[in-house]
Amino acid sequence: MNIIEVTNLHKRYGPTTAVEDVSFTVEAGEIFGILGPNGAGKTTTVECLTGLRAPDRGTVSVLGLDPRRDRDELRQRVGVQLQESRLPDRQTVGEAMDLYRSFYRRPADGGRLLEMLGLTDKRKAQYRTLSGGQKQRLAIALALVGSPEVAVLDELTTGLDPQARRETWDLVEHVRDQGVTVVLVTHVMDEAERLCDRLALIDGGRVTALDTPAGLVERVGAQHRLRFRPAEAVDDRLLTDLPEVSAVQHQGAQLVVTGTGNLVQAVTSVLAQHHVVAHDLRVEQASLDDAFLTLTDRRIP
Ligand code: ADP
Repeated sequence: MNIIEVTNLHKRYGPTTAVEDVSFTVEAGEIFGILGPNGAGKTTTVECLTGLRAPDRGTVSVLGLDPRRDRDELRQRVGVQLQESRLPDRQTVGEAMDLYRSFYRRPADGGRLLEMLGLTDKRKAQYRTLSGGQKQRLAIALALVGSPEVAVLDELTTGLDPQARRETWDLVEHVRDQGVTVVLVTHVMDEAERLCDRLALIDGGRVTALDTPAGLVERVGAQHRLRFRPAEAVDDRLLTDLPEVSAVQHQGAQLVVTGTGNLVQAVTSVLAQHHVVAHDLRVEQASLDDAFLTLTDRRIP
């Protein structure tokens, strides 16, 4: 059953086309990812889903409702954690919870929600005293306080340390296990790979691929990645001109070259021709990162 249907969504802000043509469906009980680089149109898309923005063209249906026309009804059934949601500095966790509970017909048990999110001992703490991870968990708690059927989570692990990120991921899985359909907006590859059942790759306001994370990786399955530290600077074009190479990235002193076919041979011979020694050369398997680079045809400088 489709919980969300988005068809040919378009949205412009003055001269900027934020969403050019986006279509996808989300099934009940899945974690659906909207993945793409900054400025791709992800937030605009979810704002149209939640009725915060009116699309210029196209249709959106969430739980069979029209997000603009049925906004009040939808607000009761869809929990939203938008980017950079902030609370008043001096509001306590418990006060925020009570306030948000009052907005809903079927509020969740606030105490249980705080317990599930590991915030029970923070009930009396003011918002400003919470750590980044605790603020993020509170934002998720507030998105779930109306016992929603759908939760929309936008960039939920931005700024969190690795431990807090992992805990937040476990939490999202836990939420899904409770029967909530989750729409997760992210530009973080490992987050999408770890959490999403399916994802839409959005780039330049368009869906460039729609698949499971494994399916996306499989599409570039013949891809592999070569990582090395060149003894001296290499002109990227030497590599990008090779037909085997699909992307070149710089990671500190390392060069990461993604491509197909006889990539190792092609790259090492062009380096040899230019008398460049490659230190610590390693070959790695394709990941969602590579799929993303290839499917968005992005060459990160
Ligand atoms: P993402 O969430 O993928 O980063 P957004 O949907 O926020 O992308 O933005 C898509 C494009 O629309 C960007 O070029 C952005 O600068 C532009 N944009 C977003 N919101 C507005 C706005 N309120 N007014 C003007 N331009 C906007």
